[in-house]
Amino acid sequence: MMTERTLAIIKPDAVERKLIGNILSRIEESGLDIIALRTASLSKEEAEGFYNVHAHRPFFDSLTSYMSSGPVVLAVLEGDNVISKWRQLMGATDPKEAEEGTIRRDLAVDKEKNSVHGSDSPESVAFEIPYFFNGL
Ligand code: ATP
Ligand code: MG
Repeated sequence: MMTERTLAIIKPDAVERKLIGNILSRIEESGLDIIALRTASLSKEEAEGFYNVHAHRPFFDSLTSYMSSGPVVLAVLEGDNVISKWRQLMGATDPKEAEEGTIRRDLAVDKEKNSVHGSDSPESVAFEIPYFFNGL
């Protein structure tokens, strides 16, 4: 038993297409607990700070413009092995490579507009949850 937390984001492409309920239902149906939840509109600077690990990548400017292009939903999930379970539910970064039944395969637009984010390690969680949720 490894009770963990992770940060989930419903990205602007999914909020715009009215997929918040669909995605939150998948989280609940998979047995993960949502322990914090809010909407936000990220500034370009907030998006750049959040994705700072990708600052050197060619897609950084496009990614942070997209992430600040419209509202997002921020959530903290909790459960046994939730970091890996949420990443499995999300599917691969590129929806064309994601397994059937995953959020990205079913709902994402393309490799950038891929509908959801999930922390990829305990180290990322320790940075990402307090970045958006004071005191968590
Ligand atoms: P996330 O961190 O958002 O959960 P991820 O861990 O699957 O996604 P990363 O490699 O961390 O993927 O990339 C962060 C985000 O940058 C991706 O989710 C996607 O929105 C965008 N991205 C990644 N690679 C590319 C690419 N080659 N072209 C365009 N956008 C990309
Ligand atoms: Mg990532």
